[in-house]
Amino acid sequence: MDKKIILREEDMPRFWYNILPDLPTPIKPPLNPETKKPLTAEDLKIFPKAIIEQEMSNQREIPIPEKVREIYSLWRPTPLIRALNLERALNTPAKIYFKNESVSPAGSHKPNTAVAQAYYNKMEGVKTLTTETGAGQWGSALALAGSLLGINVRVYMVKVSYEQKPFRKSMIHLWGAEIYPSPSDKTEIGRKILKENPNNPGSLGLAISEAIEDAVTHENTKYALGSVLNHVLLHQTVIGLEAKKQFELIGDYPDVIFAPCGGGSNLGGIALPFMRDKINGKDVRIVAVEPASCPTLTKGIFTYDYADVAKMTPLLYMYTLGHNFMPPSIHAGGLRYHGDSPILSQLRKDGLLDAVAYNQTEVFEAGMLFAKTEGIIPAPETCHAIKAVIDEALRAKEEGKEKTILFCFSGHGHFDMASYDLYLSGKMKDYEYPEEKVKEALEYLPKI
Ligand SMILES: *Cc1c(COP(=O)(O)O)cnc(C)c1O
Repeated sequence: MDKKIILREEDMPRFWYNILPDLPTPIKPPLNPETKKPLTAEDLKIFPKAIIEQEMSNQREIPIPEKVREIYSLWRPTPLIRALNLERALNTPAKIYFKNESVSPAGSHKPNTAVAQAYYNKMEGVKTLTTETGAGQWGSALALAGSLLGINVRVYMVKVSYEQKPFRKSMIHLWGAEIYPSPSDKTEIGRKILKENPNNPGSLGLAISEAIEDAVTHENTKYALGSVLNHVLLHQTVIGLEAKKQFELIGDYPDVIFAPCGGGSNLGGIALPFMRDKINGKDVRIVAVEPASCPTLTKGIFTYDYADVAKMTPLLYMYTLGHNFMPPSIHAGGLRYHGDSPILSQLRKDGLLDAVAYNQTEVFEAGMLFAKTEGIIPAPETCHAIKAVIDEALRAKEEGKEKTILFCFSGHGHFDMASYDLYLSGKMKDYEYPEEKVKEALEYLPKI
């Protein structure tokens, strides 16, 4: 039995999988935030044409451009690894496999879409891409893609993270991108906020607003988003398509799949190719794992809402905690988002996607056990999936069942060591999201 299941480079997928034509219930269209009418091509000008097409495409298989496959080959195919040491530590009959996306140069799954997005922009003559980043994973992935494809990248990073996480900022600089703490003096909205309060710590929603304003006010400049939208999940399906081939090689198939869920891109990436089988009757459980402090799929409601605080983005039909919901500053920065992918939201509504939520101290405890047994230090986001996997493996032991479990190892935690220090010192706190806060935030939903 092999520890790692490795594909040859020529077995890397040549197509991404687009689930839109296979969804049992079609997703509702995004709406213009002012007119509340379905978006027009004009509304989407901040993206290149190829991306807009993919966002609404009904084509099941979309070819991965040769240049993108060439760049993917720097780290893809990623290994599927059997977590044998973790299985032994848990004394479980379950087989635990993880798809290791932490081997990318930026340390997470995010370059899978960053490279594709930078490529399509480059092909359409775009010179500069703007984006926002919270903890810096997305900003560093796009900076990497920009440097490999010869396109400028300008990143607006939430100011508190900019100050607390200096190393991701360094990576962004090293790959040749510009980075500014948000609120910044580069945009109208940034200057306005700074005038009101020079010490404003910033937020992801505000950084999105700055990046979009920058894109619409500059020539040859477009905007890139790292999660939530259909084209982002599409690009990430390379993860699940590889995993399926790897399971074929060993003659196995997962009974249950887990992934941490922020906006839903790594979950969609690993799970949608298997979801296709599930829609066609296959028995596989797919589970989103989220923080108890930001429980979008477990406690949110399914409705139209803005994707950002400044209400500049289109309205998406999704599970939401309200666009003005301010999640507590937990250490899994990548999971602090009020909404979720419209595709995953619809699948959740239709009962095809399960969701569970955990508190951060139990999640870090699970991450520590993983690091001590399998060696790799997981990102705090990834620790969420690991906690759910451990619980599933222990249930399998109680029931005496030999289950096959798969999860997405979305990233490593090398730049999150301050969070591990806090956990180890016993000072980390849990924040359960209070039910009355849900009601409060939901009062501000747009009226359609
Ligand atoms: C960004 C990130 C996530 C969450 O984002 P999704 O779009 O939900 O995948 C999870 N894990 C890591 C390591 C990340 O960087």
